Amino acid sequence: MKMSAEIANNMMGNTPAITFAEGTCHIIPAFGNMGVLESDEGLLIFDTPIRQMAPGAFRKLREITDKPVKYIIYSHGHIDHAYGFRPIIQEAEEKGWEKPIVIAHENCVERFKKYRMLDKYHEWLNQQQFSSLTKGKGKIFPAHEELEPNIVIKGKEVYKFKFGDYDCEIYHDWGETDDALWLWIPEKKVIFAGDLMVSHFPNVGNPYKVQRYPKHWALAMEKMLEKNAEYLLPGHGLLIEGQENVKEILSITAEALNFVHDEVVKRMNEGKWFEQIFHELLEIFPERLKKHKHLRPLYGCFEFAIHAVYREYHGWYNTGNPTDLFPAKSQDVAKEFLKVANEEKFLEQAKKNLEEGKLQLALHLIDVVIKGTDPENYELLLEAYSLKSNILKKLSEEQTSFIASNIIANGATVLKPLIRELKKKVRK
Ligand SMILES: [Zn+2]
Repeated sequence: MKMSAEIANNMMGNTPAITFAEGTCHIIPAFGNMGVLESDEGLLIFDTPIRQMAPGAFRKLREITDKPVKYIIYSHGHIDHAYGFRPIIQEAEEKGWEKPIVIAHENCVERFKKYRMLDKYHEWLNQQQFSSLTKGKGKIFPAHEELEPNIVIKGKEVYKFKFGDYDCEIYHDWGETDDALWLWIPEKKVIFAGDLMVSHFPNVGNPYKVQRYPKHWALAMEKMLEKNAEYLLPGHGLLIEGQENVKEILSITAEALNFVHDEVVKRMNEGKWFEQIFHELLEIFPERLKKHKHLRPLYGCFEFAIHAVYREYHGWYNTGNPTDLFPAKSQDVAKEFLKVANEEKFLEQAKKNLEEGKLQLALHLIDVVIKGTDPENYELLLEAYSLKSNILKKLSEEQTSFIASNIIANGATVLKPLIRELKKKVRK
């Protein structure tokens, strides 16, 4: 079950703009969704597109309306929501219009500071998280250039203002991030949700990224449910229309988040360690949630969510085994294993596992050889790397989560040059 063509098209901005709520709202899909509210005063933009797609998205907007942009709201400070402002600002400068008012949460301002501090690091890890797009090299995202907000929402404050004929209410919640804002337009019964809603399993517990907030996320869903909205615009994916459909997607998302949260917490209170909790959770994950059309593990997944809950409440010592508190270098451990049984034995057993479809176990055995053998043992290393590369490719294809699939595929990509080098050495 790979990302459906419909969602993929929408994410790549290949679907046309959509107008809804009696012509007052528009969506311009461009990786993330740019939401637009049109009033007598002009335009309110909820999220700007990823920078590379901003000019195209802006052209689409201008095919619909030529009103000036009065407000830009960042649903949060991620790269696919807060950085595509250039064409809007450029237009205002060219036409001598007032620059739009930018609204964000105070934690978004802190996020921008953090991104400046960790720019190189984020570039490095995003090359891995998005490896199927970067192909192991090149920048996917340029360095940050922010448009700082003029209105900064503090804490849990609900920010209300009038935009033309419409009341606008901005709420702050934690979910994928700690700086999330969502917009409620009561007259039109519209919610612009940002990444609090993504139409598939919530991106909670991303392996590379900082803490996310499963329980708070569920509470945000419940707050949105109280609005009885007619339209729900997710941060990515298709517009949800109709009270019943909106209710269904919010309820099932809250249910999944509450489920993983409460079941992990229950087991923490029973004095269980992470490994046990993780495997028990996999066993009890109900089929109706696993198979639900709105919970497909396309980006985030249930497995990541288990980590998110545990990590929110627990430190890094997560095995309960003192061997793991100050472990020896894994290479030294591997060398010791190879004194007990040689490389051939490990590879033989790895291949046996592979034949039996135990790919993960095979990887653990191959790693002993890769880490522990003499670096000049070219033929053996070539065999180990090649085996590992094939297994990783296979595992990556089986993954539905874009993030998981990229992490695993990237593991095979980084082995490519090593395999090439080893082949040359073996030939000599
Ligand atoms: Zn996003």
